[in-house]
Amino acid sequence: MPVPFADLQLQYRNIKPEIDEAIAAVIRDNAFIRGSYVDAFEHEFAAAAEVKCCVSCANGTDALYLAMAALKVGPGDEVITTAHSWISTSAMITHAGAAVVFCDTDGRTFTIDPKAIEAAITPRTVGIIPVHLYGQPAEMDAIMAIARKHRLWVIEDCAQAHLARYKGQMVGTFGSAATYSFYPGKNLGAMGDAGAVVTNDDELAEHMTILARHGGLVKHQHRIEGINSRLDGMQAAILSAKLPHLVDWTAARQKAADVYNAGLNQIEDVIVPQVAPDRTHVYHLYTIKHPRRDALAAYLNANGVQTAINYPTALPFLAAYQRLGHRLEQFPNAFGDQGRVLSLPMFAEITRKQQDEVIDRVHAF
Ligand SMILES: *Cc1c(COP(=O)(O)O)cnc(C)c1O
Repeated sequence: MPVPFADLQLQYRNIKPEIDEAIAAVIRDNAFIRGSYVDAFEHEFAAAAEVKCCVSCANGTDALYLAMAALKVGPGDEVITTAHSWISTSAMITHAGAAVVFCDTDGRTFTIDPKAIEAAITPRTVGIIPVHLYGQPAEMDAIMAIARKHRLWVIEDCAQAHLARYKGQMVGTFGSAATYSFYPGKNLGAMGDAGAVVTNDDELAEHMTILARHGGLVKHQHRIEGINSRLDGMQAAILSAKLPHLVDWTAARQKAADVYNAGLNQIEDVIVPQVAPDRTHVYHLYTIKHPRRDALAAYLNANGVQTAINYPTALPFLAAYQRLGHRLEQFPNAFGDQGRVLSLPMFAEITRKQQDEVIDRVHAF
């Protein structure tokens, strides 16, 4: 029995009437760009994310750009982020005009090491972008303390961490702003591209809205030069239909993670995800470490278990950052992990039978 890495078709089938009705309503109302469905989702998502303002946009990458542009990041500035993430996080620092400064991860949670942040700060540092990678919050108390001490802003990249909490507090509510992606495979996914940036700062929210809408709130009155980054009505309506299920889907992912942990943690070579105390992990990805990762991945894939590597090359070592001349020894954890991480099938609807199949195959290997 093959086990898929994720099963978006199954999620759709389970809530088909709600999704179909949402799409039909947008077509009926001609509400393709902006309008009531987008406004409604912004309000609903702000409530779910426990923030005052949600500014929707085209994707999670634009969300990062909008937040930094609104915070007036520019040439001469340095922005600190993690060596272990998807490239959007660091690429948007460059596109906002600043220099990327990478920090290693902590070796346990795959999130940025606060000690490395402290060491990377210079007079040019303006902000920090922690990423709640795979669905586990970064060490926010330590990060916020550093930010306060050095008067830096923090933008949380929550693209993989919808509804995760740190010491009971929702991710995305610690820093000046936080960014979300609703890429189809994310914990809350649209049926196309979608994203949002959230904040408790009304002024910042307005600035981000202006930036995302051609530089103005009123048609033909362009106060500044903005970009065009819109959540379309169809995606908004689909996201509104899915949002009420997110709490249950998150709990299902956490339950599935418990099943994997119990089944895999006696295997000496497997390191299951380490969750730090006082953090909830929402398991966008269930990522293990294995010393013979490539052989394990090949074996699982040959036996019908789909896996993924997130990510095969840590950011500092990508061709895109060759100009920075980084050495492997500068990022021992991120470098060590890039050859060992393996993400196993994880989605809210995964069955016990599918998980047993995965667990049995890892044991067999
Ligand atoms: C998915 C993702 C993004 C980008 O989101 P898109 O909607 O694909 O642009 C940014 N950061 C992280 C950590 C992500 O996982």
